[in-house]
Amino acid sequence: MFENLTDKLERSFKILKGEGRITEINIAETLKEIRRALIDADVNYKVAKSFTDEVKQKALGQNVLTAVKPGQMMTKIVRDELAQLMGGTATDIRLEGTPAVILIAGLQGSGKTTFSGKLAAFLKEKKGRHVLLVAGDVYRPAAIDQLKVLGGQIGVEVYTEEGNTHPVEIAQNAIKYARQKGCNVVIVDTAGRLAVDEAMMQEITAIKAAVDPGETLFVVDAMTGQDAVNTAKEFNDRLDFDGVVLTKLDGDTRGGAAISIRSVVDKPLKFISSGEKMDALQVFHPERMADRILG
Ligand code: GDP
Repeated sequence: MFENLTDKLERSFKILKGEGRITEINIAETLKEIRRALIDADVNYKVAKSFTDEVKQKALGQNVLTAVKPGQMMTKIVRDELAQLMGGTATDIRLEGTPAVILIAGLQGSGKTTFSGKLAAFLKEKKGRHVLLVAGDVYRPAAIDQLKVLGGQIGVEVYTEEGNTHPVEIAQNAIKYARQKGCNVVIVDTAGRLAVDEAMMQEITAIKAAVDPGETLFVVDAMTGQDAVNTAKEFNDRLDFDGVVLTKLDGDTRGGAAISIRSVVDKPLKFISSGEKMDALQVFHPERMADRILG
């Protein structure tokens, strides 16, 4: 479905061989190709435009005569710039406090509950943590059951309070319970709605204020393209989250949302989720995402 940007760059730069230097004129077509490919990959138009301006500055005056493969040289410039735009290097999850509290926020269906399970498994297996999962979505009994099933699969206890409709209380009680049980990480899954609304925002900000998480992660479906960026902005304005989790990257998406979100909210992407299984989770690496976007 997507044309490969790397091939396009190689092709458009073949004509530059023998021209000596990259100039405003001979690079124009290539920059247009890059911009188009980024927009195809769900990168916001303004971000794509400022990105290509940046690439142009880097590329102008570069000596293509001495470069064996000018296309490769250009691809490297684009790849490095893309990675830079997404933060440059991987950003680790913060595990501060006893217990370290991690709050999970996002719209309904974005993949919060699935990610909560995956993160619990990751912290248990890769970081040797004793994790407690908290079912904070009090409106959907199915969400509580879903978390219990996931907890059972990965061998992590799930804290629930059947009948209690106050997520703030549940989260506070869960932290007390974690201290008693010697759990050093508490992951609080929360309720989402299908679209951003005031009640949801008030609830999640109240939970945040009450439990003072060391890390608040915003979960967003990469398949939702431009909407992902708008939702990220709305959540960030209210919640001032610490990091972003991009889900459903196993789907038919290039992941350009990663670039747009980073540019718009200026918060690090921390994890990517690429499947329904509990081990389908990767730490976000800007260079790998740049490769994926380049194709
Ligand atoms: P929540 O409402 O935000 O808690 O979202 P869920 O965790 O319940 O996920 C919604 C749906 O998306 C479920 O059917 C999940 O199995 C599915 N899902 C979650 N993460 C991924 C992912 O990375 N890839 C795919 N393909 N599906 C996912």
